[in-house]
Amino acid sequence: MENIVILGSTGSIGCNALQVIKLHQDKYKVFALTANRNVERLTEQCSEFEPQFAFALNQEANQQLKKNLIALNLKTIVLDDDKSLDWLSSHEETDTVISAIVGAAGLKPTMAAANSGKKILLANKETLVMAGELFVKAVKHSNATLIPIDSEHNAILQVLPQSKRLNYKSNGIRKILLTASGGPFRTATKEELKHVTPKEALRHPNWIMGKKITIDSATMMNKGLEVIEACWLFDIPASDIEVVIHPQSIIHSLVEYVDGSTLAQLGNPDMRTPIAYALSHPERIESGVLGLDLIKTKRLDFEAPDLDKFPCIGLAYKALQIGKNTPTILNAANEVAVDAFLNESITFNQIAELIEFCMDTIESQPLDSIETVLEVDSKTRHLALSWIDRHTLTT
Ligand code: NAD
Ligand code: MG
Repeated sequence: MENIVILGSTGSIGCNALQVIKLHQDKYKVFALTANRNVERLTEQCSEFEPQFAFALNQEANQQLKKNLIALNLKTIVLDDDKSLDWLSSHEETDTVISAIVGAAGLKPTMAAANSGKKILLANKETLVMAGELFVKAVKHSNATLIPIDSEHNAILQVLPQSKRLNYKSNGIRKILLTASGGPFRTATKEELKHVTPKEALRHPNWIMGKKITIDSATMMNKGLEVIEACWLFDIPASDIEVVIHPQSIIHSLVEYVDGSTLAQLGNPDMRTPIAYALSHPERIESGVLGLDLIKTKRLDFEAPDLDKFPCIGLAYKALQIGKNTPTILNAANEVAVDAFLNESITFNQIAELIEFCMDTIESQPLDSIETVLEVDSKTRHLALSWIDRHTLTT
């Protein structure tokens, strides 16, 4: 039995992961479930999976969770220390950590899993964007296992040679092609983008996901973050990663080899597939997802991304090129900007403006520890909030 901790079990990835685990309760045991404040869902999950531990970051929610579990007569222990997430990630009985918290909040507990040599199934791409070098070093140093859940990176893992996955040059790999749906505004004009609302931006054509990543998909910052994620995961330079728009989201990514072969992974857009592959890698298990119906699918289209309309992709490449703390700044500024857009404090196009301002304003400096990463994160958030104060919409 593999003991699994899910960080962010009530979110979109967390719920999908539990659906897959439910099909394989002979192999996987839910050891701990954690969330921020969705106490209703966390209670339901605890009563279904009876984990040893549960934790909600929000204190009120955590108190309510305790009451709910007592009323249900469950044996699950509700933790209440503010270091509970790190403690669970590094617990000696934990085998695997599914890192599915959204945003920078996922960094510390995921890092704790890396430092203690766990198997990490990574959905929280922000960890690699904020602290890629430190995180990859920690994984290597403690002999942890890192497997991406993000569908593009999981697809790449599936089509890389099985043997020396992380050594792309000696494996004859020419480049990686990351596919992107193009989001809800793929066909909108630059002028139309000025006026789009959060409601419109939250209407993703192919995937049902949490709000933050859905907005990232609309601005295409999600693809920018994924380019950075791919660099660290596969030790490949940004110049060998190409973004291709593929509106149907059937091909999840491709690898081009020096002999002219291009290998792709295809499937219905359903996160249970990459989650199942991450759980069982290098074997395969049932995920509950139907196979692809090629006749119904009919066609697969491709186009180049419009970098002028979606400047966030360029900002991510620029952050990678500058390196050091710049991807950390990009990530923090993006999180603040997405929140501000959702609260209708800034416009859609101001998301990229704000990120660029933060990248240009904060000095580029090396990152030598997670504490430094968190300092840069906090400094950027302050700067971004002061920019928003100066630019807040007056309606
Ligand atoms: P979500 O908003 O649906 O869920 C987030 C989860 O994190 C929830 O359980 C929430 O309670 C928890 N959480 C939020 N803030 C927290 C905090 N401060 N401390 C502790 N827990 C907190 O998000 P999601 O769509 O499931 O995405 C999670 C991560 O996976 C993101 O990094 C996202 O980029 C990545 N990802 C998601 C998808 C997808 O299909 N949803 C695909 C690829 C990658
Ligand atoms: Mg993705």
